[in-house]
Amino acid sequence: MERNEIIKAYGTDFTQMIQRLLEYAGLEEIIRQKQERMAGVCGQGEMRPEKMRIAIKPNLLDCTPADYGATTHPEIVEGIIRYLQARNYTNITIMEGAWVGGNTQEAFKHCGYRDIEKRYGVPLIDCQHESSYRVSCAGMELSVCSCYQDVDFLINVPVLKGHCQTQITCALKNMKGLIPNSEKRRFHTLGLHRPIAHLNTHIHQDFIVVDHICGDPDFEEGGNPLVRNCIMCALDPVLSDAYTATILGYGARDVGYVKLAEQLGVGSADAEAAHIITIEGVNCEDMPDSHKVLAVSYAVEDVDSCSACYAVLISALNRLKEEGFLDKLESRIIKDRIAIGQGYRGRKGKCGVGNCTRLFDFNIPGCPPSEDEIYEALKERYEN
Ligand code: SF4
Repeated sequence: MERNEIIKAYGTDFTQMIQRLLEYAGLEEIIRQKQERMAGVCGQGEMRPEKMRIAIKPNLLDCTPADYGATTHPEIVEGIIRYLQARNYTNITIMEGAWVGGNTQEAFKHCGYRDIEKRYGVPLIDCQHESSYRVSCAGMELSVCSCYQDVDFLINVPVLKGHCQTQITCALKNMKGLIPNSEKRRFHTLGLHRPIAHLNTHIHQDFIVVDHICGDPDFEEGGNPLVRNCIMCALDPVLSDAYTATILGYGARDVGYVKLAEQLGVGSADAEAAHIITIEGVNCEDMPDSHKVLAVSYAVEDVDSCSACYAVLISALNRLKEEGFLDKLESRIIKDRIAIGQGYRGRKGKCGVGNCTRLFDFNIPGCPPSEDEIYEALKERYEN
């Protein structure tokens, strides 16, 4: 497989589909070439397959099932493991850390990954409970979970989704699961795009499998799955994300962290030069122009909010909008915009969401609060 290629398949038998994709892409050969390079560097001679430490990084931001549009389908990860184990690559782990406010252990359980652990003997590493190390990532000091230091070959399995703060989330942003929660919070104070791009100068993705089965085109936390029944493979995370951006209706370099990652030398954002190969099924990528985030974001004043907090607020506002509630109260809400984010800590104001705005006259507590809590509290506030 070449670095400018993206290989796709469409269908519904995901476990079989991914194995055929990996066969076509020649993953075994890609791993073997890396082994040879590593052995050459260490002067240790050729390594045996079972010595190669392979980590699979899905996206399990929370404990919602994959058909909700937010988390990686376990069938894909199962297919990757079957492919690897059949070729004696048996030293495999699954690594993930849920988002701030989420619980990785619950996500492992409810998303089907505990079953995979039992069935295939592949350990699950909870990055929320890992120690971390500080490292300079192209001039930016960042904290990374220690488990990454034990990885020889990283297979990233993100979900292709929209994101209410960064427009899209896929390969590059999925690496946030390999940093501690405290660092995830700090990323938001650093503007999100810059630290994501810099993080990817340190964490090297050897192979990318994109779950494009039914990711939500608007919200990272899912809820509005859009069925596409597609799985894609790539070697370049920047190209993969640039292509994802075009699928979701943006320009390849419209997404700040994609453009920055290209400038930092992580990969190429030239989606037009990508060679797209569809090996089975029918290519259908017409996405609806939903813009659900834009439709309600006028009501929000965000300063460095965490993704989980912002996403649940946007979802709650969408529910209120669908009920016709938001439009009726538009003038009042615009006057009294809802504040959210770490930038409001210690500050006063009228209406705020999350513990960071605890000093506001009206505050919805939680770190983050739930969508239901926000929905109920706002409804009550504006009804009266
Ligand atoms: S309350 Fe503040 S720290 Fe907690 S999730 Fe929300 S923005 Fe992040």
